[in-house]
Amino acid sequence: MIKKYEALIASDVLQKAKKLIADDKDHTIEQHKALTLVPAFSRHEELRSDFYQKLVEAEGFKTERDAVNNVYTVIEGTDPNGPTLYVTAHIDTVFPMDTPLEIKMQPDGVSYACPGVGDDTAALSQTLMIMRAIRDSGIKFKGKLILGGNVGEEGLGDLYGVKEFFKNHPTGIDGFISVDGFPRSIIYGGTGSYRYQVKFHNAGGHSMCDFGMPNPVHAMGRALAKIADVKVPSKPWTTFCAGVVDGGTSVNSIAHDCMFMLDIRSDSKECLDKANEEIMACIKAGVEEENARWQRDRAIEEDNPYKARPNEVAHADRVVELEIVQVGNRPAGSQSPDISLVQGAANCYKAFGYEPGMIAASSTDTNVPISLGVPGICIGGGGSAKNGHNLMEVYNPTGMEDGVFEIFTMIAGLLGVEGVSEPMLDKK
Ligand SMILES: [Zn+2]
Repeated sequence: MIKKYEALIASDVLQKAKKLIADDKDHTIEQHKALTLVPAFSRHEELRSDFYQKLVEAEGFKTERDAVNNVYTVIEGTDPNGPTLYVTAHIDTVFPMDTPLEIKMQPDGVSYACPGVGDDTAALSQTLMIMRAIRDSGIKFKGKLILGGNVGEEGLGDLYGVKEFFKNHPTGIDGFISVDGFPRSIIYGGTGSYRYQVKFHNAGGHSMCDFGMPNPVHAMGRALAKIADVKVPSKPWTTFCAGVVDGGTSVNSIAHDCMFMLDIRSDSKECLDKANEEIMACIKAGVEEENARWQRDRAIEEDNPYKARPNEVAHADRVVELEIVQVGNRPAGSQSPDISLVQGAANCYKAFGYEPGMIAASSTDTNVPISLGVPGICIGGGGSAKNGHNLMEVYNPTGMEDGVFEIFTMIAGLLGVEGVSEPMLDKK
């Protein structure tokens, strides 16, 4: 495979594309900055999808846009029996719509900072660079390429963009590449996650006068203490985290409501489901214990010196109620690193003289195809970024053209090039 890539890289058409990509760098940087300034919080991507769609169409490519604002172009191959590859970068960022966005040049005179500049706006702008190189080099792929941007990768976006794409394309996709990772690394498995908002409710009341009423905050504390003791395997890596707690009325009130947010992850669906089951049992047990404790101590109601005070809340009827809202479901999945897509990508990097970093699992858009049995990987784009998911995110375009040409070559290798090479990507 490395030899095949070396021959491909040496071909006239790839060399032409390489030069086009290098010459297009400054223009791409301008487009990158412009895209970065359009806010695109997950599930609020419409503005940026509009902008990106216009940029793609301005290059002369027809676009398709689905119900959730994924935008892509379809480039038909010369061989109707060739494989189909979907290559995408995510449109959304982790930053809420009112986050101030300003491009700040860095002291090195090359790098620039702005929230979302690296993840994943850099790769999104590079899809335009790839489109132009395809157009201007005249390269003809044997297989079909679907190239564009997708919504909903970050946070509570819950991968809804790629889920929608595969809902609309249940068959016919032979490979998926998300450009959203570390340079020259290949993520080939999907860490699954379940995310919840766990809410505890009761009537609420006075801390002293209504003492004896089951307390939502105490129930939550019991649940969290049990969760903290749950044992999970380290192989495959399985984790849980209560990340946010919120609620209560005042220091001298039994709360009406409180809640925590929970993230459970594993590289294996089986382990994810097992951890999930145990943690759900902990939450239910916490609530049951809190309610039972005050049922047992009912005598306290008799002794309550304030029981005669007007109070519409009859304690005996009141128990803590539990409400669990699932806010995230990212499917887990694994595939062999020996499949043609993974090997095709790895050998492409090797042909350029790099040993790619192989990452067995992470949580990316690639989770979706892998969980559906469609080969998928996540790779890095051109250039480098740091401080991801941070307001001080910085992108450095040094070497961007090399990274983009490597991706261009990978696409060409996987799909095959008319008159030059056969597809390396297997048909499903
Ligand atoms: Zn990303």
